[in-house]
Amino acid sequence: SAYVFHFGGGAVSSDPRSKDKTIVGGKGANLAEMASIGLPVPPGLTISTEVCALYNENGKTFDADLRAAVAAGVKHIESVTGRSFGDAANPLLVSVRSGARVSMPGMMDTVLNLGLNDATVEGLAAGSGDARFAWDSYRRFIQMYSDVVLGLDHHRFEDALEIAKEDNGFFNDVEMQAEHWQALVGEYKAIVAEELGRPFPQDVEEQLWGAIAAVFESWESDRAKVYRKLNDIPQSWGTAVNVQAMVFGNMGDTSATGVAFTRDPATGEKAYYGEWLVNAQGEDVVAGIRTPQYLTLRAREAAGAKPLSMEEAMPAAYAELAHVFELLEKHYKDMQDIEFTVEQGKLFMLQTRSGKRTAKAALKMAVDMVGEGLIDEATAIRRIDPMALDQLLHPTLDPKATRDVLTKGLPASPGAASGAVVFDADTAQTLAERGDAVILVRVETSPEDIHGMHAAKGILTARGGMTSHAAVVARGMGRPCVSGASALSIDMKTRTARIGNREIAEGDVITLDGSNGDVMAGKVPTVEPELVGDFGTLMVWADKHRRMKVRTNAETPLDCQVARQFGAEGIGLCRTEHMFFEAGRISAVRQMILAEDEAGRRAALAKLLPEQRSDFQAIFEVMAGLPVTIRLLDPPLHEFLPHADAEFEELAEATGLGVNHLKRRAGELHEFNPMLGHRGCRLGITFPEIYEMQARAIFEAACDVAAASGDAPIPEVMIPLVATKRELEILRALVDRVAGEVFAEKGRTLDYMVGTMIELPRAALMAGEIAEEAKFFSFGTNDLTQTTLGVSRDDAARFLNPYVDQGIYPRDPFVSLDIEGVGQLVELAAERGRKTRPDLKLGICGEHGGDPASIAFCEKTGLDYVSASPYRVPIARLAAAQAAL
Ligand code: PEP
Ligand code: MG
Repeated sequence: SAYVFHFGGGAVSSDPRSKDKTIVGGKGANLAEMASIGLPVPPGLTISTEVCALYNENGKTFDADLRAAVAAGVKHIESVTGRSFGDAANPLLVSVRSGARVSMPGMMDTVLNLGLNDATVEGLAAGSGDARFAWDSYRRFIQMYSDVVLGLDHHRFEDALEIAKEDNGFFNDVEMQAEHWQALVGEYKAIVAEELGRPFPQDVEEQLWGAIAAVFESWESDRAKVYRKLNDIPQSWGTAVNVQAMVFGNMGDTSATGVAFTRDPATGEKAYYGEWLVNAQGEDVVAGIRTPQYLTLRAREAAGAKPLSMEEAMPAAYAELAHVFELLEKHYKDMQDIEFTVEQGKLFMLQTRSGKRTAKAALKMAVDMVGEGLIDEATAIRRIDPMALDQLLHPTLDPKATRDVLTKGLPASPGAASGAVVFDADTAQTLAERGDAVILVRVETSPEDIHGMHAAKGILTARGGMTSHAAVVARGMGRPCVSGASALSIDMKTRTARIGNREIAEGDVITLDGSNGDVMAGKVPTVEPELVGDFGTLMVWADKHRRMKVRTNAETPLDCQVARQFGAEGIGLCRTEHMFFEAGRISAVRQMILAEDEAGRRAALAKLLPEQRSDFQAIFEVMAGLPVTIRLLDPPLHEFLPHADAEFEELAEATGLGVNHLKRRAGELHEFNPMLGHRGCRLGITFPEIYEMQARAIFEAACDVAAASGDAPIPEVMIPLVATKRELEILRALVDRVAGEVFAEKGRTLDYMVGTMIELPRAALMAGEIAEEAKFFSFGTNDLTQTTLGVSRDDAARFLNPYVDQGIYPRDPFVSLDIEGVGQLVELAAERGRKTRPDLKLGICGEHGGDPASIAFCEKTGLDYVSASPYRVPIARLAAAQAAL
């Protein structure tokens, strides 16, 4: 069949699809790959991802061809293992697991020990010589199958187990003997019959197809949908299903199971890292039921833990495992995340994949691997997700600050976070939507908590190791996480937590240090990050490989400073109206806006001129020698109008005009649609004295800085919201005239440019003509998106989410450029503009200038630079390099 592939036992398919992640999923591809390089992989079959869509579209049925192909695959597994599926004497047991193109941790369901029933459990007991193991496996299977496939609540099973232990006076699962498990199996079957109205399926074929169907259906589950949305994974990909012979880590003290990384996923350090449990099945390690032990002697000693590491307890199996780690890293040229089982001393590999990692670890590994000769610089650049750098660009805890440490857990995901404690995911989401910083505090997390983890600034759990759900998901999301803080107990009834003798109520502020596991009371102060070490190295490589320049959107000297430290090569957008909001100025601005005539405006502008000049001076000093694009006033005027009575009174005092007079004037200026109203260059056309003042402030400041430092800035004066050539013609003449006046007064001339923003569809269409007047274009894709889509950027939040959910736009078009639509206007304007003026400088300064997908488009379109907010500058540098490679 084209849809079913075999692996293991020497089966190496010549069909390239058998190792193609898009067809067999990540897990299937890697199992086939591992088997083909001779690693010990239990035999299995993979049903392709294409069947997922077919199944969900075709009324949830499987056709005869597929059934036959799966049957042939089961035969393959039987022949390799020498066991038979459903055979009472020598039963084959299988695992059924999902595997999408990319790993979706905790999102999809797994069934282990499938093939057990009342008859085969006896065969398993006889064959293994271990009745306890057989009945333990059977009860695990019933519970897992009931939960995942039959949709029954797992609590009843857990309660029954607790009661069984209590009745027998046991504290621990390991005290349960064969007859206890057997009795529990009886109870489990009774629970199923009662809840379901029919008995637990004894037919192994029914079990198998039920599990396969459940995997495909789980692709459509709510939690899978949430994860896909957060990670931009298309619904159409589907998941594959892997059916694989079981191997048992719970066959006594020579058996074990574990998960491992070939390098430390939190720090990136080149050291094996992992957790394992003797006499356990895979789920025990990740579910946090038993506390996993350290894999290596070194890690155990570093943690001061007692239980023996695998390196000490099972030296032979460990040595083989370490050898496999080396082979896998060489083969995949990347850090691997591995699941393994040791069955009675023999090692089996159950999974390998490129491991999730923190941004810090990703950087260290990429840089180290270039040093080791494993990958080249271009691969290192490609391997880092630019958005993940965000994690490293934010403040970390001030090392000098005092810490009121409540307790210590595991450093599961690095970074610092402060916020109010919340105890459930829904509350976390609600409060975060309100703008609160929250820390999600849970006993442990499960896939149902994903939305709350995403909303939270940080995550704290009482249970679970470094590979627990909370740890894995938090690392993937870039949220700081402290897991396994075992001194923490949570009382959901009173919504309080207790650590030792300290009580924490919901809403209390705590701070997490995900890098060392500290949980602290209150908010601990932070310091700004620095781009040094591996980050610096990678940035140097990125700069070497990129073509586009990266500028910043900034209007305060502090922002400019931050941006320069992050590598900004100039300012792409200085929004002068933002400078007007500062305390003490707003009054003069309001005076200017509300003035009845030119004389009144000029009086107010005269007060603003020295302020603007000193602002520009400060920016020019920070950006010495670099281009600085200053946009003349652009806001819809209503943003500056007074609203409250007190504001009117204050203004009345400052101007000597009556409150009523001012209110009437404000009423006259009211606009129904300010975004399309009296803003942008329309202000300059109607009130030229405003732009005159701004131009004067720019050139006076530039001349003064040039005189003082000799390092002349390169002002680029930018006219906003232009639609026609004539607008620009008029305003350019104005700017040139003022420049000439200032240069004459100051006795020096400076290079400068006048250009325009392309923010309106008409401007894009008329770019050929407009370029006759403009030395540069800067695409203002915020307004260009607003005006092209006819979607108000200030009101879109109310309806854009459902639009994205329904696939009307693939992503929020104000975050990631609508390349298909708005992108056409950008391309067309670039082409027409350059036809008129071949050396026309082209840039982008909308929010999209910091979005990697949009940056890739800018590279393709041949723009000269992108401009992003200061903290996005390193992201843009990396994304620009990736786009150029
Ligand atoms: C734009 O419209 O894209 C732009 C950068 O200007 P603003 O966001 O200030 O309107
Ligand atoms: Mg704009």
